[in-house]
Amino acid sequence: MAIATINPTTGETVKTFEELTAAQIESKLQLAAGTFETYRRTPSADRARAMTRAAEILDAEKQQFGKLMTLEMGKPLQAAVSEAEKCAWVCRYYAENAERHLADQIVETNAKASYVKFQPLGPVLAVMPWNFPFWQVFRFAAPALMAGNVGLLKHASNVPQCALAIEEIFRRAGFPEGAFQTLLIGSDKVESILKDRRVVAATLTGSEPAGASVASIAGKQIKKAVLELGGSDPFIVMPSANLADAITTGVKARTINNGQSCIAAKRFIVAAAIYDQFERGFVDQMKSLVVGDPFEQNTDIGPLATPQIVKDLDEQVQKAVASGARVLTGGKRIDRPGNFYEPTVLVDVDPSTPVSCEEIFGPVAMLFRVNSIDEAIHLANATTFGLGSAAWTNDAGEQQQFIDELEAGSVFINGMVASDPRLPFGGVKHSGYGRELAEFGIREFVNIKTIWIGQSKAAADDTE
Ligand code: NAP
Repeated sequence: MAIATINPTTGETVKTFEELTAAQIESKLQLAAGTFETYRRTPSADRARAMTRAAEILDAEKQQFGKLMTLEMGKPLQAAVSEAEKCAWVCRYYAENAERHLADQIVETNAKASYVKFQPLGPVLAVMPWNFPFWQVFRFAAPALMAGNVGLLKHASNVPQCALAIEEIFRRAGFPEGAFQTLLIGSDKVESILKDRRVVAATLTGSEPAGASVASIAGKQIKKAVLELGGSDPFIVMPSANLADAITTGVKARTINNGQSCIAAKRFIVAAAIYDQFERGFVDQMKSLVVGDPFEQNTDIGPLATPQIVKDLDEQVQKAVASGARVLTGGKRIDRPGNFYEPTVLVDVDPSTPVSCEEIFGPVAMLFRVNSIDEAIHLANATTFGLGSAAWTNDAGEQQQFIDELEAGSVFINGMVASDPRLPFGGVKHSGYGRELAEFGIREFVNIKTIWIGQSKAAADDTE
C-alpha cells in the first residue's frame, strides 16, 4: 500500500510520501536506543511537564489537527476535533497519574524490606490503524513515554500526515529527540524492525490478520506484545429499558466514526416484547442521518476511509442478503465520487452464517429478535470476538447477569461502549490481549521488578 494522503471524500491523491530507506530506519533505531539510555533516567516530573505541554499543544491546535484527520480518513470534522481534545485528556491523565501508578509497592514478607518496582523496557514499536488516527497513538504513547519507554510508530499508510504531526507534537512538547519517532514504512518492514534486538516490545491495534502476524513474530523473538483487534460488539435491549434512549444511543453507537470503530455496536439483540417498536425507531433514525462532506457541519456520516473498505462492506451486505437477510434501509454504495455507503439496517440475518458475527466496518446494523435473556447472552457470545458489549435494562437482576456472563473486555449497562483514560480498555478472545489506559495500560511495558533485601546480619535461616 502506497504511503499517501488520498482524500476519501473526493478520491483525489493529495500528497504522497517516500518510504524510509534501510539506512534511515537504521539511524532511527539507533537514535531510539541511544535516547532510551538517558530518557529512562529522567525524573517523572520532567516527563510530566513535557506531557502536559503536549496536551496544551493538542488543545490549542485541535482545529488544525482535526482537519488533518478529516482530510486523511473522512470522519466528521467535529468528531475529529473532539478526538484531539481526548488526546489532550489522556496526556494530562498520565502526566498527573503516572507517578502514582508506577510508585514502588511495598509487600510485607520475611525480608528486611521487599517491594515491587516498575521500570521501563526500552523502544516499543506501535503499529497503528487509521480509524482514530490520533487517539490510538496517544493512548499508547502517553503511558509508554511517561513510564520511561521510547516509542516508534508505524502508522497506517493512509494517514502519514497525522503520523508526522504526532511526532512533531512530542518534539515541540520538549521530549528529547528520539523519544517518539514516526517511521514512514509499509507493513512489510514491520518484521525486520520487530526482530531488531533494540526493539523490545510491540503493540498493534488493527485487524486480526495483522495482529496474528505481529504477535507471532514477537512470540518467536520472546518479546512482549499487546493486541487491540477487532470486535463484533452486541448491543442488547431488554423490555425494561428506556427505549427512546436505547434507540438514539444505538444509532450513535453503530454510526460513530462513519461506522468504523472497533467498539461500534454491530449486532442489536432486542427482546421480542419491544422488538417492533425498536426496529421502527431505529430504522427511522438511520434514514434521517445526513451522509456527505465530513467538513460540513451538519454531516453525520462521511465517507469510508478507502475504496477497499466500501468494497468489503458491500460484499458483506450482499452475502447476508444472499443467505436470506432483508434490507430495511440502505444496502448499497452511494453513486457519487468518494467512498460513500448508505446507512443500512439488515434483519433476518441467519445467526449461523459467518457474516452474522464477523466485524462489519461501516454504517451497517444487524437487528436480531430474541425471546429471553439467556438467548440474548447466547447470541451475544456467539462470535470469536470479545471486545465491548452494551446491555440496556433497568432490572437489577438482568444487569448482574449481563455483567457476569457477557464474554467481553467491557460491559456497559444503559450506555454505549467508549474508552476513557481512567478505565482499562481491551478485549478477550480474538479481540486481543493486554490492556490500554488506566494503571493497567501503563504497566504493560514495564519490568515488574521484585526487590528483596535481607537482614544484614548473617542469617541462620537458609531456606529459599
Ligand atoms: P489493519 O489493516 O490491520 O492495519 C492496522 C495497522 O497494521 C496498519 O498500520 C497496517 O499498515 C498494519 N499492518 C497491516 N497488516 C500488517 C501485517 N501483516 N504486519 C504488520 N503490520 C500490518 O487494520 P485497519 O483496517 O487499518 O484498521 C481496522 C481494524 O482495526 C479493525 O479490525 C478494527 O476493529 C481494529 N481496531 C481495533 C481497535 C481496538 O482497540 N481493539 C481500535 C481501532 C481499530 P498498512 O496501513 O501499511 O497496511
